[in-house]
Amino acid sequence: MMLSRITGLAVVAAAASVACGRPGAEAPAATPRLYVLDGGVLASDPARYRLTEAEVQVTPLSIAAYLIVHPKGVLAWDAGAIADDERGSSASGVEHRVRRADGDERAVTLGPPLREQLRAGGYAPADVTHLALSHYHWDHTANANAFAHATWLVRPSDRDRMFAEPAPGAARPATYAALKGGRSVTITADEHDVFGDGTVILKAAPGHSEGHQVLYVKLAKTGGVVLSGDLYHYPEERTLNRLPTFEVSEEQTAASRRGLEAFLMRTGAALWIQHDLVGHRTLRKAPEYYD
Ligand SMILES: [Zn+2]
Repeated sequence: MMLSRITGLAVVAAAASVACGRPGAEAPAATPRLYVLDGGVLASDPARYRLTEAEVQVTPLSIAAYLIVHPKGVLAWDAGAIADDERGSSASGVEHRVRRADGDERAVTLGPPLREQLRAGGYAPADVTHLALSHYHWDHTANANAFAHATWLVRPSDRDRMFAEPAPGAARPATYAALKGGRSVTITADEHDVFGDGTVILKAAPGHSEGHQVLYVKLAKTGGVVLSGDLYHYPEERTLNRLPTFEVSEEQTAASRRGLEAFLMRTGAALWIQHDLVGHRTLRKAPEYYD
């Protein structure tokens, strides 16, 4: 079901019309654009999500990040698993290992550097005016420091955990340390309208972390899209109703999922599960975009 939703979307293959010259030189579009960025592939164990190898279509997970270009600003949503600055080269397909705050090691097969993907769309990190993270786990924060100049939209409960001592086990605090002294907006409402016109909305979805959130983007041609954060990882969590084993609150996650399903019904939006490797591979990547 998820696949047909994704592949059924109208895609604007607009590479030819996307300026690839000076970053930020292009006049802003009248309606939002959504660029999908490839953050590589994460080795995974379905058992952490109460799924078996036989139940999932593929075992590894995608790493995704997104750029939302709105007439009033540019929002970076999530920041990848491996920072451009820590990788040995710009080569894709190379395995890179990182250690989380709790000492656990994870392996990511690298995609192209984030900056290269932004540049392909005509953007640089300096063009980003707003940053929002679905949550603070390491595989969503890697390049956050590159956006420390932007206004960080954050839920207070996540912010508190990010700078707590000791750091949360699934975090890599060095990857987002520069956000601490930057400009931020503390979000407490269930839904936060980023640019004031209802097209880009942060929606609370706690449970995976204290301040976990998802992002709704209303696109003129594509329709509504919800970027899942880690409300789901494998699409089979949704179809088979399974919860990860490492939620801050399973009750909250279950309630957030119910709330999101109602939101999807109400808005008609499609759900893009960020870690769903099969679904993510069907999406057009920058410099192409959805609008
Ligand atoms: Zn994740």
